[in-house]
Order: sequence, then structure tokens, then C-alpha cells
Amino acid sequence: MTSTLAVVGAAAAFALAASALTCGSPAPAGSPTAFDRATLAAAAGAGAGAGAGAVTLTYAPPLDPPVTVMHAFDAPPAPWAAGHRGVDLAASDGAPVLAPAGGIVTFAGPVAGRPVVVVSHPDGRRSSLEPVIGSVPVGEPVTGGQLVGTLADIATHCAPRRCLHWGVRDGDTYLDPMSLLPLHGPVVLLPLDE
Ligand SMILES: [Zn+2]
Repeated sequence: MTSTLAVVGAAAAFALAASALTCGSPAPAGSPTAFDRATLAAAAGAGAGAGAGAVTLTYAPPLDPPVTVMHAFDAPPAPWAAGHRGVDLAASDGAPVLAPAGGIVTFAGPVAGRPVVVVSHPDGRRSSLEPVIGSVPVGEPVTGGQLVGTLADIATHCAPRRCLHWGVRDGDTYLDPMSLLPLHGPVVLLPLDE
């Protein structure tokens, strides 16, 4: 596992050097604070009254398997610094995009020219998925694995291929989404030279 992660890190560093990644949109305008954690927990069936720290969610990749990582997460050394604030998963135009875990859709709309869907989870984390044309109205609860939209036909830094960018934030801290997956699932690491 350690060696695999090291390879991923090296690949991500190479990708960053090769192209100025701008993936990972700034925080969408839709504020998740409108939905308190008890509401989120209830919506996700995690049990009302559970403390925020007591909520345990199971995350899964937001795409049907097999999942291929095109660009790994690369934590920025500082909030304003360059980095890759999420993971890019290979996908085709129109691919179904799934909620990585239960929660509430708290944003669906354009951010910096790209359509973004945000799912706020009862554990306090937020998943942002782009470029995704949302199919669930804002404010609606979703369960893990539920369809929340489809991949938009928009070029990203994966061009000419297409990918889904999945970012996860806990407060203002970006997490590696892959670290949330129990066994990293049926994930394939795609060599960048391929
Ligand atoms: Zn990305």
C-alpha cells in the first residue's frame, strides 16, 4: 500500500508539472450551513441526535466500477497554493454520477463556468463533483450510490479524455477522497504515459 501511494504521489507531481491544474473549483455559493448536521444525519438515515463525531458513513466511488484514477489528490501546501484538491476519475460524457455517501444536495449549478454538484454529508464533510449536470434538486436528501447527475461534455484538465473531479472538504480542509474508501474499492491507477 505504501509503495502504491508513493507511485500515486509521483504521478500526481508529474501531472502537476506537465499541466497547470486548475481543477477544484472555489467554494460554491450554496452554503451548507443552511443545513445543520442533525438535519443531514436524519436525511441520511444516520440517526437523529447523533453527535457530529459519532456519525460514521461509508463512502464509495461516485462512478460505477471499475474506477480509474487519472489524477491523484495533491494537497496544496497552503490554502492559496497550487495543488489538486480532489481526485480525477476517468469517465465518459453522460456517465452517471453517484453520491459518494448519503447526505443532502446543497448546491447544483455553475462555478467558474463548470457545472458542479455538492453533497453535504452528515459527518460534516462535503463532496463536490464536477463537471456534473445535477439531476437532484438542491435541498433533496440522497443515499449513498444514488444518482445525482451526469458527467457534462466539458473539457477539463483531463482533456482530450474526460474525467470526474471529486473533491472532499471537511471545513476548509481538503481531504483525499480515496482515503475515505474502505479498501480503495475496485480502483485502477492509470499510468499517465498510457
Ligand atoms: Zn481534478
